[in-house]
Amino acid sequence: MRARHKPWAESFINEYPDVVIQEPEQLKGCWAEEFSNSHPIHIEVGTGKGRFITGMAEANPDINYIGIEMFRDIIVTAVQRADEAGKPANLRLLNVNAERLEDIFAPGEVGRVYLNFSDPWPKARHAKRRLTHDNFLTRYERILLPEGEVHFKTDNRGLFEYSLMNMTDYGMRLADVSLDLHADKPEWNIMTEYEEKFSSKGQPIYRLEAAFRN
Ligand code: SAM
Repeated sequence: MRARHKPWAESFINEYPDVVIQEPEQLKGCWAEEFSNSHPIHIEVGTGKGRFITGMAEANPDINYIGIEMFRDIIVTAVQRADEAGKPANLRLLNVNAERLEDIFAPGEVGRVYLNFSDPWPKARHAKRRLTHDNFLTRYERILLPEGEVHFKTDNRGLFEYSLMNMTDYGMRLADVSLDLHADKPEWNIMTEYEEKFSSKGQPIYRLEAAFRN
């Protein structure tokens, strides 16, 4: 995702310390206290402009959502969205690289990881940047509850095939694999910005659920 440089982004984000957590490492193991409840914690890695995570937070008040996006010029739009939605009490945003997940969450602190329209990084030499590469799967496995799941959707067939194979090789159990998510128009599906763009052009959306334990 490309975004214009927004020189105002940093000061804008700083106006929302209740939405964007500045030093998330300090909350490792204490996220329940941050939300003042013990509801499940679901995270989205690569949140982009925040349509999905804000929609999920509004639709599911009994789940706590944390959106993670490494680019400030992109997450600033997610902050605007959260503000427009009235800053849902069950939503937080982190402006960090997901390489730091294990510094931010204790083992078993997360119930679900969402990956939506992750960057495909098609060149082999960039494979380690794919959010379904082993390096990231290991991080998800460590922070997820034993019964935790990874839910992944994408328009990119190459990334989907890579992810299917890599998750299987890793020993994950796959479920609800769909090669055309929108065919059945599932009511529970909350669209992301990319999903809206690609599905409106008639492109199929691929989706799977995966767990580390059987
Ligand atoms: N999920 C959104 C959607 O579906 O509209 C955005 C999709 S966009 C193609 C992928 C996003 O993931 C980008 O905003 C990118 O900056 C972010 N991203 C990629 N790798 C990341 C990482 N390691 N940590 C945090 N964010 C990452």
